[in-house]
Amino acid sequence: MKICIACGMPMKTSQDFATGDEKKDYCIHCARTDGTMQSYNEKLESMTGFIVKTQGLDVNVAQSAAKGMLSKLPAWRD
Ligand SMILES: [Zn+2]
Repeated sequence: MKICIACGMPMKTSQDFATGDEKKDYCIHCARTDGTMQSYNEKLESMTGFIVKTQGLDVNVAQSAAKGMLSKLPAWRD
């Protein structure tokens, strides 16, 4: 099973992949509407928003948590 290189989500079916293409290394949530992968900043912003919404954290706290999560993923490891 593949894991999205940009957010770590397991991709089980073709619907989980960007544009439904199982050759892609990133998931539907990490793709822009044109099918290309989102940038680090776009991903950081959406993940920060997600953490604020789901965990009710302060934006600054959520952003550093998001940075920590992203830093472990292959797309952003450098
Ligand atoms: Zn993803």
